[in-house]
Amino acid sequence: MRYIEPHAHMVSRVTDDYVAMVTAGCAAICEPAFWAGFDRSSPQGFFDYFRQLTEHEPKRAAKFGVPHYCWLCINPKESEDVQLATEVIGLIPQFLSAPNVLGIGEIGLNKNSRNELRVLEMHVDLAARHEQLILVHTPHLEDKLKGTRLILDVLKNDRRIRPERCIIDHVEEHTVGLVLDQGFWAGMTLYPETKCTSARAVDILECYGSERLWMNSACDWGVSVPLAVPYAALEMRRRGHAPEAIDRAIFGNPVRFLSQCPKFTPAA
Ligand SMILES: [Zn+2]
Repeated sequence: MRYIEPHAHMVSRVTDDYVAMVTAGCAAICEPAFWAGFDRSSPQGFFDYFRQLTEHEPKRAAKFGVPHYCWLCINPKESEDVQLATEVIGLIPQFLSAPNVLGIGEIGLNKNSRNELRVLEMHVDLAARHEQLILVHTPHLEDKLKGTRLILDVLKNDRRIRPERCIIDHVEEHTVGLVLDQGFWAGMTLYPETKCTSARAVDILECYGSERLWMNSACDWGVSVPLAVPYAALEMRRRGHAPEAIDRAIFGNPVRFLSQCPKFTPAA
């Protein structure tokens, strides 16, 4: 088995997780910038985090033979302070030329507030000006549907943005159709408690086809499973999906999307 982990927060994982992922066939790990579990107090905190994502973590991953990529942004949970967000967004361009940066993410909404929307538009503008791919986080609260609609509107309203260069993550049964119908890619997050289980994700794949879908573990500092993607592959195998279909879902598709950034090269 070979697979890509397109969404994992490795700065909060232990080295054993790297060993397990590489042993299971992981050919590349991509790490969106996100909330640390607490609010950072200054732009300097983000500057150090961006250095960790672009300098330190790729070296750590290389020790286990896996390429590490990242996405940069100030996450929606810390976007309420527009002044802070403006300063953090101002720091990002100097990191965009780093060899492991794939684009802007995970941007989006958390509580669907006015300030979050403003910061989302600033990120979309940043991505457009620098021709970056976009990775979007959709809210986990009950207004996921409303949040997803608001996010798609922001992306659609900016004529410089091409939907095939944006992935909308954390989709569920009630949002996946909306995302795919408008030409975007959709990501399913496999979580043991909340979000999608493997069985639900494979149900969605079976209903919507696998053309513009990927799966990720989004493992972080909370309850999460770094091997969730290979586990979902086992669920596909159990249901009788062909080996080529499994390979497309967990390797071919993420490679196809991520290769729109010329820097992306999975391990052979
Ligand atoms: Zn995440």
